[in-house]
Amino acid sequence: MCTSGVFSIEGKKSIPIRMKACIGCKSCVEVCKERAITVRDLEREMSEIASLLLKDLL
Ligand code: SF4
Repeated sequence: MCTSGVFSIEGKKSIPIRMKACIGCKSCVEVCKERAITVRDLEREMSEIASLLLKDLL
């Protein structure tokens, strides 16, 4: 799911512990069956390489 290491698994729950590492790809939103995750617009931009790597997900 999150390749940026935003989440940590604690017990049976996924807890966002590094929210500043989020690149806004929204892959976590797509896999969350409970629709518990919202990704708001981020001010930072992705690098050209990151954009190319994630182009099929965005
Ligand atoms: S939007 Fe992407 S980078 Fe941010 S928490 Fe979700 S999966 Fe991780």
